[in-house]
Amino acid sequence: MSSRRRWAATAATAVLTVGLLTHPGASAAAPPSAPATAPEIALDPGQSALIRFRLPDEAAFQQLVASGADVATRPRTTDGQVMADVVVTSAELAALTRRGAVAVQVIQTEADGARRLAEGRRSARLAGEDTLQFLQAYWWTSNGRTFLQTQVATSASDDPDVEITVTWTTADGTTGSYPLYRFEDSGEYQYHVEVPQRLPAKPVKVSATSSLGGRSRVVTPTAWPNATPPPLPTGYQKDFIDAYMTPIDIRARIQRLGRQYDDLVDVVDLPRRTQGYRRTAAAYLGDPAAAAVVVESVKFGDQGMNGVQVRTVDPGRANRPLGATYRDRVLTVSLATDAGGKVISTTDDVAAFITARYPQRFTAFVEEGSAGVPMPVTGPARLDDGLAGSEVPQRPWTVQALRIGAVRDGSKVGVLAYSQEHAREWATPLVTLEFAERLLANYATDPATRELLNSVEVFVIPTVNPDGANYSFNDYNFQRKNLVNHCTGASRDPALRNSWGVDINRNYTVGSYFDGYVGGSPNCLSGTYAGTGELSEAESNNVIALAKANPHIKYALNVHSYGGYFMWSPGAYKAAGRVTLPRPSIDEAKYFQDSARRIVGAISASRGTVTWPAYTGPVADVLYSAAGNSADQLYYELGIAAWDFEVGNDIWNEDTQQWEGVGFQPPFDEAHAESQEYADGLLELVRIARDSAATTR
Ligand SMILES: [Zn+2]
Repeated sequence: MSSRRRWAATAATAVLTVGLLTHPGASAAAPPSAPATAPEIALDPGQSALIRFRLPDEAAFQQLVASGADVATRPRTTDGQVMADVVVTSAELAALTRRGAVAVQVIQTEADGARRLAEGRRSARLAGEDTLQFLQAYWWTSNGRTFLQTQVATSASDDPDVEITVTWTTADGTTGSYPLYRFEDSGEYQYHVEVPQRLPAKPVKVSATSSLGGRSRVVTPTAWPNATPPPLPTGYQKDFIDAYMTPIDIRARIQRLGRQYDDLVDVVDLPRRTQGYRRTAAAYLGDPAAAAVVVESVKFGDQGMNGVQVRTVDPGRANRPLGATYRDRVLTVSLATDAGGKVISTTDDVAAFITARYPQRFTAFVEEGSAGVPMPVTGPARLDDGLAGSEVPQRPWTVQALRIGAVRDGSKVGVLAYSQEHAREWATPLVTLEFAERLLANYATDPATRELLNSVEVFVIPTVNPDGANYSFNDYNFQRKNLVNHCTGASRDPALRNSWGVDINRNYTVGSYFDGYVGGSPNCLSGTYAGTGELSEAESNNVIALAKANPHIKYALNVHSYGGYFMWSPGAYKAAGRVTLPRPSIDEAKYFQDSARRIVGAISASRGTVTWPAYTGPVADVLYSAAGNSADQLYYELGIAAWDFEVGNDIWNEDTQQWEGVGFQPPFDEAHAESQEYADGLLELVRIARDSAATTR
């Protein structure tokens, strides 16, 4: 066993710098040996990919979050390295790499693909003695394979070099051991942990030792989650999902369910229509690689502005002022000339002139790097909204919910399931629609379903963010946010189109960026842009409006992907001191944990997917701080027991003996399996609501 376990940056000078923050802690301890041969991960210019990065340390990850990076899942300290999945462009990949991050896995490219880097290295040193305590020791069996996951805390919490080793023993006396890795969050020591370990059989005891000489009690691991859902009766109908579904497909499914089961379901139009799948039209006046002015329509492209042309001309006479005409859908800008007849207008002149002259029709701005240069005679250029989805209606979208139950008058306890706040999470509406249709289809024949729908009302919003989803399906598959562009000035350059939009799950009111919490961004181009203010977006308003209009809703599940998490509040903290939103009471925390085990057990019944115990808990503890997320507003403001799924658990690869990520848009067979197992989880939530209503918790 290596004593040099603490990972150090591959180059002693490698420091991850994000935004204005520089992390000083990465100045390495021992000089690392040469890295194992590592294939370079590179992207074609302009390409994006979902990449698992190895960061110098936990603090580097916190800086990534704070800078608004498009972080897909929480970091995982495994094998001594802080791993984080981030969607990056080729340029961002290069920038992160320069700052010391190492790309280790292309989980998904815009097309597809996966590569992996070799392991890093470690170092460590020794100090005094400590005491060790197991926080978690759970084992489970999945598809005939046994796993063990442990968390251990050392009393030497301030010593970053403490190494902890866990030793396990099975009933036949087989033993083995593995290292844990230190987990810090926002600069505070939490515990030591490692991903679940594959064991030959059920462990009957575990113990831990530390490099300081500390020794834990011998502990008997507990079965996880140790909860089994009721068996489904023969003839139970399921599997209503046969393909990924676009917002148009989802709307059609909602209408069909409303017609087919009209005595059990109402289709609810949510109050705020979204912008729709629409963008303003824009064109480069000039060569974007040299000097250009961006001319943009004030109205959306579909409102008669796609195809409008813009050009500059030389008036051919001396001493002419800047002028313009707009005629027959052609904007002609006549450039100014000097006494010798030479064109003297600059890019700034032209941009300011167009904006001032046609405030109802056009805005114009100078492209980054083109300020103050001579305006060329150019064009005509054609304005276009750049949207490729020809089948998508270009008008405001009415977001819909299904209201399901035998009695839909607010007298029964309500459960809300909502999905696709994040556009690219294509598997998530499949989960909520499968869940809804199972309830509806089995009511007539399954007594247990009938009993549920007689005592509970279920609300389902399959796609909270249809505009972003349409963009994800038609234009840019990694689109996370909505389609509303709040950027100003040069940030409106069409080259940045895939970075516009508001992160709906950072736009709510409790623990928000605007309140000083971590994990939302003020940068309109950030993956976690929080919007212009709390609830600035129609999409977030709709979720809250539905919950407020139905105060009998006491349970909610916000379905995201991917990573395999089951979480609840608090979901955010402030950076200084890592002060979280208030913790649930002891009783409530126990209720959440007990309920979570039931739901995790239900999910596992489908194909053996076991959500890790270390990934089951408060968002702020097991994932990251997500300022202004919806579950926190539902919980703290409306008193709803509000949970979050991240569907799409890592899958164990028996050949490589590693856990592998599945991504936002896995092959459909995987998405289908996720829809089935997580619908099982949602059904268990309805049973929990039913049980609690019966006992009036
Ligand atoms: Zn999400």
